[in-house]
Amino acid sequence: MEQSIEIYIKNLVRDAISHTLSGLELQHDRKTYVIGNWKMNNMVAEAAEFFHDLKSNKNVSVVICPPTQLLYPAHLLIKQSGKPIALGSQNVHWADQGAYTGETSTSMLLDVGCEYVIIGHSERRQYAGEDDQLVNKKVKQALKTGLTPIICIGETLEEKNSRQTERVLTTQLFGALKDVSSSEVIIAYEPVWAIGTGQSATADSAQQTHAYIRSVLKQILGPQAVGISILYGGSANESNAADYCVMPDIDGVLVGGASLKAQSFDGIINVFAKGEKSK
Ligand code: PEP
Repeated sequence: MEQSIEIYIKNLVRDAISHTLSGLELQHDRKTYVIGNWKMNNMVAEAAEFFHDLKSNKNVSVVICPPTQLLYPAHLLIKQSGKPIALGSQNVHWADQGAYTGETSTSMLLDVGCEYVIIGHSERRQYAGEDDQLVNKKVKQALKTGLTPIICIGETLEEKNSRQTERVLTTQLFGALKDVSSSEVIIAYEPVWAIGTGQSATADSAQQTHAYIRSVLKQILGPQAVGISILYGGSANESNAADYCVMPDIDGVLVGGASLKAQSFDGIINVFAKGEKSK
């Protein structure tokens, strides 16, 4: 009898603590990121010019994700420049090593100075058949080896028009983060219809979607989700960056086209750096 009272009290205390924790809004200290995705663009000479010209800014975390053949030269160029720029890959394989022709492992990425890796970009979902299950394997491999995954999610125009956005994002998030308990991830909300089209999402609608994404992250990861940076991606540029920058749930941008030239990318970095300073 005594033991059952003890267990009863223990359970009461445990339930009370977890109830309190789940209702707690932890103080967040999210990093602001401006990340460039060069896709299948640029050669060594252009990379050299870019890192020479880019001013960057230590008030925001700047990451460049060049194509695979440029990772090592980019690593050397960044080191030589002494600028606060981190390196990321656009893709990775889920296995440690082995007979996977044409693939790159996480340890190879770490070996050439990468700290980040983009996973599940819509172009890989579209052209390389990547699905949520594969994205999940890659996310787990990245986390296991110390790379920070930048997980891309987003709805197509058809899904947007048929009001499927929340359902699609929820499925993608639960899929990507299955059996993941770490909050050391970055989420990039990239509506597919906005990528490379010049048709960016309005800052208000992106903010609404980011708040929704955060609510789903809380369901998956609990209160620690408040510390996860959620970036907007899709035709972000110097002119619209300021609109995104002031939104409470937009913690930076993932940039394609406007990251190819140092001047336009610096323009975006400066907008977010100013926003950081005025906080
Ligand atoms: C991207 O592909 O990640 C992207 C955001 O591209 P763009 O900025 O060119 O729309």
